[in-house]
Amino acid sequence: MFQHNVSKEALVGTATLGVVFAAGYLIAKRRYTFDTMDIFKSHSGGKDHPVLQYVLNHSMREHPVLKKLRLKTFEDPLNFIMVACEQAQFMANLARLIKAKKAIEIGVYTGYNALSLALAVQDDGHVVACDVKEEYTNVGKPFWKEAGVDHKIDLRIQPALKTLDDLLAAGEAETFDFVFIDADKQNYDNYYEKSLQLMRKGGIIAIDNVLWSGKVVNPAEDDLDTQAIDKLNKKIHRDVRVNMSMLTVGDGLTLAFKL
Ligand code: CA
Repeated sequence: MFQHNVSKEALVGTATLGVVFAAGYLIAKRRYTFDTMDIFKSHSGGKDHPVLQYVLNHSMREHPVLKKLRLKTFEDPLNFIMVACEQAQFMANLARLIKAKKAIEIGVYTGYNALSLALAVQDDGHVVACDVKEEYTNVGKPFWKEAGVDHKIDLRIQPALKTLDDLLAAGEAETFDFVFIDADKQNYDNYYEKSLQLMRKGGIIAIDNVLWSGKVVNPAEDDLDTQAIDKLNKKIHRDVRVNMSMLTVGDGLTLAFKL
């Protein structure tokens, strides 16, 4: 049972509840083996977790169209891959803090965070949104339009590395303010390196799923995704090109600030 009036809707779109909801789906697909402890450790609680409910009830200032897109996304069985709404709000506030004009989203899914960033960047700014699956980005498009920021989202349907190379080839190195990396994990290091080239000094690279349900603590020998995340985590920790923090919000979020 939900303990507060607004918490049900607030929780519906979080990665937290999404993971709980989708755990059976994933196990059925035999890709991952989430268990209750994993979910609680890596996602700050489950649908009945009173502390997470408190956080959402006392911090979310979700744009009404973001809320509509979140609820729409929850209809999709893959909704657990959507960014946690409290994390999206945090990243939007970071983008506002640094007066971001140019942002990149690597891994769009239904575009909740792309919309959140588009609402956060300056009026003359934009978000380059990278994904390979139009079937999901098409879910978000009407909401981007409804929120009046569709003109600020430059959606590019092709491998993200190609889009990042295109931006570099177009002379846009060191011009971006904010990048969110949230796509295929085995390319994370490639995304990080390209993003560093595209980022201006003082820009922020945010990297999602850096705890990967806690599996980074002890990566299995045959788990290439976890190994890739763990390797990048260790690399960024000692990377003198950036200042960094690793946060336990959502499924783990690393922030790298380009020096
Ligand atoms: Ca993610």
